[in-house]
Amino acid sequence: MDRFYLRRFHANAIFHCIRVEPNISQREIADRTGFDKSTVSSVVNEFAERGLIERKVKTGEARRGRPSEGLMISPGSGVLVGVQVEASEMEFVLCRLDGSPLASRVKAFSGDLRGLEDFILSGLSDLVAEAGATAPILGIGVSLPGLVNNEGILVHVPVLGWRDVDIVERLGRVCPAPVFVGNDGKAAAIAEHMFGACIGLDNFIYLFSGSGVGGALFLDGTVHKGAAGLAGELGHIKIVPQGRFCTCGAAGCLSAYLSESALLEEVERLSGSRPESFRDLLARADNGDAAVLNVLDHAGDVLGSAVSSLINIFNPPVVLLGGDLALGERYVAPSLERSLQRLAHPAMNSRCTVRFAGDGSGRPRLGGVALALDGVTGLDGSHVLP
Ligand SMILES: [Zn+2]
Repeated sequence: MDRFYLRRFHANAIFHCIRVEPNISQREIADRTGFDKSTVSSVVNEFAERGLIERKVKTGEARRGRPSEGLMISPGSGVLVGVQVEASEMEFVLCRLDGSPLASRVKAFSGDLRGLEDFILSGLSDLVAEAGATAPILGIGVSLPGLVNNEGILVHVPVLGWRDVDIVERLGRVCPAPVFVGNDGKAAAIAEHMFGACIGLDNFIYLFSGSGVGGALFLDGTVHKGAAGLAGELGHIKIVPQGRFCTCGAAGCLSAYLSESALLEEVERLSGSRPESFRDLLARADNGDAAVLNVLDHAGDVLGSAVSSLINIFNPPVVLLGGDLALGERYVAPSLERSLQRLAHPAMNSRCTVRFAGDGSGRPRLGGVALALDGVTGLDGSHVLP
């Protein structure tokens, strides 16, 4: 555990309280979090000095004794930018300090590592210009589809073929604000805890599928990092001994059965015609294509095998499924449920809710924003998050 860890943990949790419950008092924050009053007071003072929050006397409470102060996010303090890096595109999101989006845009990306800094900088300045934003950028969060270790090295990005990229150093040198980087599964889990389906939950597991399969273990109020920061690679849970080869170099991983390309290949093998994308595959399912329905039914089964292991090991109250999994909910949910009934321990399965994230709404992806918010409110903590 690095020496800034505890202070960052406290600061993030306290800012979270102010964000979800504007006008909260310091005493109420101490009650909600269990932190002692001096910790809350020290962090709140630091936020106020940095201009991130404002204090206002709570109306109606000034008659007896000392009036209590309500805390709220300072609206003019600045903005955050989140960047979501995908295999063939990047999404840039500009938002307020409370995480509410102001503007977003998606740019096609060639995957060329040499031009990465320039590409991110131009996307950022286009977005700011387009939105007419004048407030300072307080932090930039970059969510990456690969393994990021505690030293800020992007160890491996299978979908882009990148290895050992000194990502924090490279982006930190050129970006106009502090940069915070992290793995996309962990970033999405933090976003769900901040803005989405898991607000108020101290324990949950997040699993998503897309071009790859990833996720995070959110345990005791924070994302579990493991020894080097790489924990939570849920896409590489072993499903089939000596099974299909995976991009990680091993065989039989969940990702080799559930990633977009794995599903498209399976449909091609069964029907002789390959869908262009997962959305195309879903459109075929909507038309009753038997081969596609078969593939999705099997995907739910495979998913249930992985999720039952997670339930049996971690006893989570919630498992949240996102990405393509959420889009295909109606086709994978029945076989997933059957598989859980068969494989998960009844004592834990009965206490666990498996939910699908509402990803189909077309709202911007907020993983990068969550990293920026966590970084800015973490008070000089690490640039590798979580
Ligand atoms: Zn693997």
